[in-house]
Amino acid sequence: MLNTTREKTRPRSAAVLAIKAGLLIDGKGGQSIRNAVILVGNDGKIASVGEASKAAIPSGSDVIEAPGKTVLPGLFDAHCHMLMISQSLEKRLFVPNSLEILKCAEILKRTLHAGITTLRDACGPNDVGFRQAVEMGIIEGPRLVLAGAIAQTGGHLDGYYPRDIELPFSEGFTVSPEFADGVPAVQLAARRILRKGFDFIKVCTSGVITSPSDLPDYTEWTMDELKAIVYEASARGKAVMAHAEGNQGIKNAILAGVWSVEHGSMLDDEAIRMFVERGTYLVPTLTVVDALSNQPDKFGLSEFARSKVEIIARNHFESFRKAAAAGVKIAAGTDNIEDWMQGRNARELELMVRYGYTPMQAIVAATKVSAEACRVNNRAGTLEPGKQADLIVVDGNPLDDVTILQDQSKLLLIMKDGKSYVNKL
Ligand SMILES: [Zn+2]
Repeated sequence: MLNTTREKTRPRSAAVLAIKAGLLIDGKGGQSIRNAVILVGNDGKIASVGEASKAAIPSGSDVIEAPGKTVLPGLFDAHCHMLMISQSLEKRLFVPNSLEILKCAEILKRTLHAGITTLRDACGPNDVGFRQAVEMGIIEGPRLVLAGAIAQTGGHLDGYYPRDIELPFSEGFTVSPEFADGVPAVQLAARRILRKGFDFIKVCTSGVITSPSDLPDYTEWTMDELKAIVYEASARGKAVMAHAEGNQGIKNAILAGVWSVEHGSMLDDEAIRMFVERGTYLVPTLTVVDALSNQPDKFGLSEFARSKVEIIARNHFESFRKAAAAGVKIAAGTDNIEDWMQGRNARELELMVRYGYTPMQAIVAATKVSAEACRVNNRAGTLEPGKQADLIVVDGNPLDDVTILQDQSKLLLIMKDGKSYVNKL
């Protein structure tokens, strides 16, 4: 909410703030508007969007002047791990849970200050307290969409090591996924996840790089198990996000009816057709695959994990290129899994452009399409009347150079729900 002395005397939806910008990109992919004005109401919502020459700015409104700057929707990271600060097993063993949680609060603030106003955590916290803390203003962070995970024995997220040790979670010790095998067990696990208030159930329908006991092209779960999880989620108005790198795991996820497929490293033509026909979202997480293949030494990866990176990277970027050309609905998610990656979320847009998207397509992926993938498009993702005022103002034109979105010195205004968290204007 805007905090001005004037708001007390205004009707609830009256505009109290006008942002005048040289260029406006609304996130929907159409023509951008030169010399635009956005009016923000004191309810934290966008009241109007349009050309400055046609805008009626109510007298007494606060005005932010941003000539030569671009205003666009706040960006999304549709696949992030806010509790992950290292892949090194040894490093993680020296981090007490309380420190990890406090570190997470710092990462959330860093992420918001990088222009990310909505973040979908692809399983991290063990309860929804982080979301509540952000909503209550106890900590600064993006709007949070949270997933709780279910894992099968021996699959991704199972932290079993041959020494006969089971660590609570392979990628962060604050949380444990539910473990379940067989339809009745996964129904119970799904219900246990949902009663905790998560927005998504996360499953893994193929193996992955960082788990000790699987390979990326392994399939996980039976179709009956997957369909039972999807049913339980949809019965409560929720949805399933599926980690899937191998080709068959991707197809199984789509056939079972998941909402979004994460990674999608090994896509053949049939898989791409299935995405298009079913309208399933793809979150290709180019950032993590690029970083793993080009900067492997920056990750504390074990030997078993290093050997799997090559298998993934070989196909990943070509899969994105083909999916993009075929019109698959693609959202922007980084899969940030190390402290040094957190807060660099807009790099995903640079990589999308490198592998075939235009800057406008990358922005739409990181705003409108990501809002759909995160199921918050009724209130965020585009600059339209009635949506929450989640927006950023950047110095320059990201349609000319999308990498400016990564430069925090160029992020002049970061607003979420009508409240400014960064304002250098
Ligand atoms: Zn992930």
